[in-house]
Amino acid sequence: MTGARPGWFSVREAGPGVYLIAEPGHVNSYLVVGEDVALLYDTGMGIRNIGDEVQALTSLPLLVVNSHHHYDHRGGNASLLGLAKEFAAHADGAELHAAPAPREWLEAYAHAAHVMRRRYEGLCALDTHHGFHLTDSRVEVRPVPELADWRIEAVRPTRLLREGDTLDLGGRRLQVLHTPGHSPDGICLWEADTGLLLAGDTLISGTFFAHVPGADVTAFADSTARLAELPVTTALLGHNLRHRESRGFVADVAAAFAAVRDGRTSPVRATDMFGEAALRHDFDGFAVLTPPTPLEDADAAA
Ligand SMILES: [Zn+2]
Repeated sequence: MTGARPGWFSVREAGPGVYLIAEPGHVNSYLVVGEDVALLYDTGMGIRNIGDEVQALTSLPLLVVNSHHHYDHRGGNASLLGLAKEFAAHADGAELHAAPAPREWLEAYAHAAHVMRRRYEGLCALDTHHGFHLTDSRVEVRPVPELADWRIEAVRPTRLLREGDTLDLGGRRLQVLHTPGHSPDGICLWEADTGLLLAGDTLISGTFFAHVPGADVTAFADSTARLAELPVTTALLGHNLRHRESRGFVADVAAAFAAVRDGRTSPVRATDMFGEAALRHDFDGFAVLTPPTPLEDADAAA
């Protein structure tokens, strides 16, 4: 790639009054701008100051909504303490937000980020040597900066959300959908007027984490089946370089989770990006990780 090195964030419009604030390869956060209030759905890794990106886009009062309590979606909360009017999260996650990220998690993530960047450079080599043109600066997985001082501090939610709550931004209204499965406190935001769905980690254009503590495959199947009923025009996703999908993808994911739940798949043993053991169920364009069964564990130990 040529030209000036891009910054840590990659910002672009993702729809009318909607901005993707991506940390490419890591987390996708979104700013939705109403007439009276701007809503930031997730705050990313906390590796660089997301508040600078928000302030470049809007001067409206800011409502932060975290899709769920996982560290990588609330890493920027602490940096927004002087900027955001409110921090909202699902009521089931109130206590879960009270924990800062442990040093071991930060170190494991930093290691995974270096591995991701190295593998991305292989993709760049395909572009350079074979002219595939798969990538550009908008989706470039950035070189990993020095992370010795990286912290993710806890910020208590100031507003607890529940299923059916409406967030009125002035001229646009988003409805809270409680979508457990990846985590017990997962929420999507649904704008019925436009068919916009902010999906967090409930829809992923890559590997669904249904194997982590707090995940539940049956709940995941229920939540994705529910999303598949909605007349979605644009689903905006919480991770990966493919940040947007349409209604057909939501239906494919719901069908996939039903198949996993009902034992109609043939998973293989795998590890996640942190090296944790899991079973991987492969589908066209995405995969689902579930916990290794006790039998599999015994096999692995033998
Ligand atoms: Zn998550």
